[in-house]
Amino acid sequence: MAEKELLFPLLAIDRLRTDTDGEGVTTLVAGAGCPLKCRWCINKKLLAEKQPGYITPEELFARTRIDNLYFQATGGGLCFGGGEALLHAGFIAAFRDYTGGAWRLTAETSLNVPPDKVRIAAGCIDEFIVDIKTADPEIYRRYTGGDNAVVFENLRTLIGAVGPERVKVRVPLIPEFNDEADREKTVRILREAGAERFDLFEYRV
Ligand code: SF4
Repeated sequence: MAEKELLFPLLAIDRLRTDTDGEGVTTLVAGAGCPLKCRWCINKKLLAEKQPGYITPEELFARTRIDNLYFQATGGGLCFGGGEALLHAGFIAAFRDYTGGAWRLTAETSLNVPPDKVRIAAGCIDEFIVDIKTADPEIYRRYTGGDNAVVFENLRTLIGAVGPERVKVRVPLIPEFNDEADREKTVRILREAGAERFDLFEYRV
């Protein structure tokens, strides 16, 4: 593994979260870097302005182990977000190697990442929260500035590797960009790709 993959560009740590990042009590670990530029991104300011500090797996463990008892008692752990968590799949794999399996690891991802990152992540992360945006390539491009060609291929790879029960797909209504009909069509395409768990919600802008 390349040396730089063993460093995580830490933007923020947010402790004692419940009901937002998977099971149990969680600590959100937010990292810098994202390939997209979503119009209603709530992290845009943080991603643009805050300088990350680079930390090792050992340092991240030292900064989060204060909640070890909460994690173990509730089945919680760390949720990697950002930014795009799977850009740091190599780091998360190293963190998993260092800490073992006692903590549940979750990642928030758009899946708009190189396929090798998905394969690494499948081997070290317990649950994936996928923010799919929309299946419509044109709406996706207008909303994110990016191309979603790789996203559904990555979703099939991920579900094939870890099973649909470990993948929750968030499907938003995006004000000024899509509508209920687009969301229903997106859910149909997601089901065809093997997804079974959905979180339908609306962005608040
Ligand atoms: S994928 Fe997430 S972090 Fe990246 S720009 Fe979109 S909303 Fe922001």
